[in-house]
Amino acid sequence: MQFDNIDTIAAIATAPGRGGVGIVRVSGNKVQAIAEEMLGLLPKPRYAHYGPFYGEDHRILDQGIALFFPNPHSFTGEDVLELQAHGGPVVLQWLLERVVALGARLAEPGEFSKQGFMNDKLDLAQAEAIADLIEANSAQAAKSALKSLQGDFSREVNTLVEELIQLRLYVEAAIDFPEEEIDFLSDGKVAGQLQHILQRLHQVLASAKQGALLREGMSVVILGRPNAGKSSLLNALSGRESAIVTDIAGTTRDIVREEIHIDGMPLHILDTAGVREATDQVEQIGIERAWQALDNADRVLVMLQAGEAIHAEDQLILDRLPTHIPVTLVRNKIDLIEHAPQVEVEEASGRTVIWLSAKHRIGLELLTSHLKEVMGYAQSEEGVFMARKRHLDALNQALSAVQTGQQQLELFAAGELLAEDLRMAQDALSEITGRFTSDDLLGRIFTSFCIGK
Ligand code: GDP
Ligand code: ZN
Repeated sequence: MQFDNIDTIAAIATAPGRGGVGIVRVSGNKVQAIAEEMLGLLPKPRYAHYGPFYGEDHRILDQGIALFFPNPHSFTGEDVLELQAHGGPVVLQWLLERVVALGARLAEPGEFSKQGFMNDKLDLAQAEAIADLIEANSAQAAKSALKSLQGDFSREVNTLVEELIQLRLYVEAAIDFPEEEIDFLSDGKVAGQLQHILQRLHQVLASAKQGALLREGMSVVILGRPNAGKSSLLNALSGRESAIVTDIAGTTRDIVREEIHIDGMPLHILDTAGVREATDQVEQIGIERAWQALDNADRVLVMLQAGEAIHAEDQLILDRLPTHIPVTLVRNKIDLIEHAPQVEVEEASGRTVIWLSAKHRIGLELLTSHLKEVMGYAQSEEGVFMARKRHLDALNQALSAVQTGQQQLELFAAGELLAEDLRMAQDALSEITGRFTSDDLLGRIFTSFCIGK
């Protein structure tokens, strides 16, 4: 069924700024009328039409290529017109204003993709993958987003949903024949299929976790007293990678953020002001920010000097660390004591200690491997599909529902409860592809897209 947005929507689809070409995209049932006004004719579907773009009173606004995609064979499933003009802000604004004067309205962020989703041109996970592909900062992230966009993730999810439905129908059939129910449930077929589904769910979840890591990355805060070598470590880590995406420096007393990639996994590093008894107010604020930065961290690196006893100020830091954030200790400046780079586990605390030299860039790969390991990041050659936190949540919900169902079967031979759990797992998975979803969720997903997408 064609889902008609009553409005015709329009946006500049290319990035702001100047470029050789800029594109204005229009979708909706006024597209044909708009094309006839602005081009003087309706272009042949899916053929490039070259000519002037007319404004009011036949004034020429620009000349370029127009493409017309009649519904339903377009990105949105509606009539779509793309005007490829010269990529200057003034020209594109003229074209957009003309399209609006002819009855279109400005599109909201992600509205073209949303329309495509409503018309079954792509499912929700694929629509999200478009945004992820555009936002990807590493080749690995782009590859996985592309895999999701091509439907690899959705196919896995849909297969699982189908299997859950089949199994539930089988169980429900058993319930309908009470005298045979026990035989039905205990003949091993249901248990075997449950096992198979669980195994598959675990596999998909593992792959999705890798994808989510490629998207979200890991956030690490470096703490330590002044001159421990925090800034040197940040520089050493970022200097090894050419792809520095952000570099927002505050004052030396404020937090410095860098984003680097370790084998494609984004690593957000925060270098903090040295923590010690502050001598003045500005420094005090810097130190408080260092502690606040911990709130969103996946891990803290506490820098200590190699070959020296724990200083009173170091102890102050260690004592104040919130218990829920994992800690890795870094023993820096091993060159001064001629210690080899090394990873060890402190017996008393169970904490990992990494011996390195930030300044001389010795032992850094021990640290990066350790960070990949604690996040469970495994670089895979064939690539994983891109996933988001909401996908992981849904997969986990489905997993726990199936596990509960398995118990209902094993402990109580409770067919009805099992069927209910299978239904819950099915609903949770269907949220990923959007077969089962709320307007609220759709709103949240699509408004995070860029305009014109
Ligand atoms: P921060 O205050 O913790 O950010 O420390 P810095 O990174 O600014 O470093 C403080 C001083 O220690 C600087 O003079 C660095 O050159 C020096 N330093 C940092 N790492 C090492 C190291 O591995 N070996 C040696 N010998 N000096 C280092
Ligand atoms: Zn510093």
